[in-house]
Amino acid sequence: MKKEKIYIFDTTLRDGAQTEGVDFSVEDKNKIAKILSNIGVDYIEGGWPGANPVDNEFFDKSPNLGSSKFTAFGMTKKNEISADNDPNLSPLMNANCNTVCVVGKTWDFHVKTALAIKNEDNLKNIKETTRHFVKNKKEFIFDAEHFFDGYKSNPNYALDCLKQAYDEGARWIVLCDTNGGTLPNEVGDIINKITKIIPGKNLGIHAHNDTENAVSNSLTAVLAGARQIQGTINGLGERCGNANLMSIIPTLFLKNTFSDKFDLNIKKEKLNSLTECSRFLDEILNKKPNKSMAYVGGSAFSHKGGLHVSAVKKNPKTYEHIDPKDVGNHRNIIVSNQAGRSNIISRLENYGIKIDPKDDKVQKILNEVKEREFTGYSYDGADASFELLANKLLGKLPEYLKVKNYSVNVNKDKELKTTAKVTFIIDGKEINCSGEGNGPVNALDNAIRSNFKKVEKYYKYFSDLKLLDYKVRILNTGTGATTRVSIESTDKTGKSWFTIGVSQNIIEASFKALIDSLEYKLFKEKAPANIHEK
Ligand SMILES: [Zn+2]
Repeated sequence: MKKEKIYIFDTTLRDGAQTEGVDFSVEDKNKIAKILSNIGVDYIEGGWPGANPVDNEFFDKSPNLGSSKFTAFGMTKKNEISADNDPNLSPLMNANCNTVCVVGKTWDFHVKTALAIKNEDNLKNIKETTRHFVKNKKEFIFDAEHFFDGYKSNPNYALDCLKQAYDEGARWIVLCDTNGGTLPNEVGDIINKITKIIPGKNLGIHAHNDTENAVSNSLTAVLAGARQIQGTINGLGERCGNANLMSIIPTLFLKNTFSDKFDLNIKKEKLNSLTECSRFLDEILNKKPNKSMAYVGGSAFSHKGGLHVSAVKKNPKTYEHIDPKDVGNHRNIIVSNQAGRSNIISRLENYGIKIDPKDDKVQKILNEVKEREFTGYSYDGADASFELLANKLLGKLPEYLKVKNYSVNVNKDKELKTTAKVTFIIDGKEINCSGEGNGPVNALDNAIRSNFKKVEKYYKYFSDLKLLDYKVRILNTGTGATTRVSIESTDKTGKSWFTIGVSQNIIEASFKALIDSLEYKLFKEKAPANIHEK
């Protein structure tokens, strides 16, 4: 049986850009478009030419997107003027792309309240806008805004709106759940009725996530007959977001319900770029990746309980619904108090360290981890610190940053002033770093960071280092309180790593986590060791 094709339409750069706090530059848009075209999505909606300078520039220098179709977004023509003369439509017509996606109203309540025009006039506007673009040989996509709410309010009118575009030759009629309040059973029922009038091969779904059902609604739409799915990377979008393509794409490929019946233009071997794509967007947005995201999240294949870990070692299928490698993710064995030797061994294997299970060093690492956890360390979320510790105990960690001393001074005269000094010994030379900050930890961080250039030998490794997140936790109360500091860092690869420091002194705890972060960067890039002078 020949499989039917599902088309993927990405709107990260248009609908995703509507998100609070998101402000893509032209360069960001180019980078994201490139990664999407590399995956091979069918459509990349770039934005709204004519609406703002960023989108104008982005469309002026139309990016080369391989087989992905670059798409311009706009709105149906205004009531009083013809499509030919509508100044909002001409930038779409002139944009360097063959596909346009135009949104129009299909909910009578909106026609009355938002547009304040007659129902018949809205129908005419949809019809004439479609005709205008189809006549000019554009591939035309009609985004039926608020379609599901419209259908529930006035089914005949909502359907009439769709027919205006379909009868004029629109390639796609995309049913939008703009307010995101429609449930999967309703989506299924309504699309089943629509496909009796407009063929499923011309229908798409655009779901918002306001009931946490955007992915589910998209998949239900496909089962009911729709053949195009619109969504964004990581579900980026206003309010609760759009449908998350990072979950939809792997589901279409890896679950029989879909893979037995449907095909995509995306090549299966591109699936393993999804985790990287997801992290890349967070990197551009300077956002901490959501660890619990399905398929691509950092915890999606994490195993902690001793029982789970030993079962996963026997066969990963015991606690994993897919092979993490298929989506470019990896299995993560978490070391904790419950850790046994098997946890340690699997975790070392994750870092490419092969070790004989009977080797004494396994017990040595386990004992050290347990002892440290007793004093407040937690390696659950501190991969990088664990990797450093293990390598150190295995004798595989070169010495990098030898700290001679450090000091922090907090002074309040009129203003509060915090300064810090750190002295390193690198290749026998003393390197003095000093800096100021709004607090002791910030001052230490600045002292090191603003003096990276002085640490000549390691400067090139540090130039792209960024601190993403800093968290402090007080572990017990009273005068003997212990502080646990965790730091998340990243660099130009977009991958982040977590380090940890524990001490009764918050500054010492922060300093340890900070130094671990720097050392990890040197370690993973195989930087040369610090040479001791004899
Ligand atoms: Zn939307």
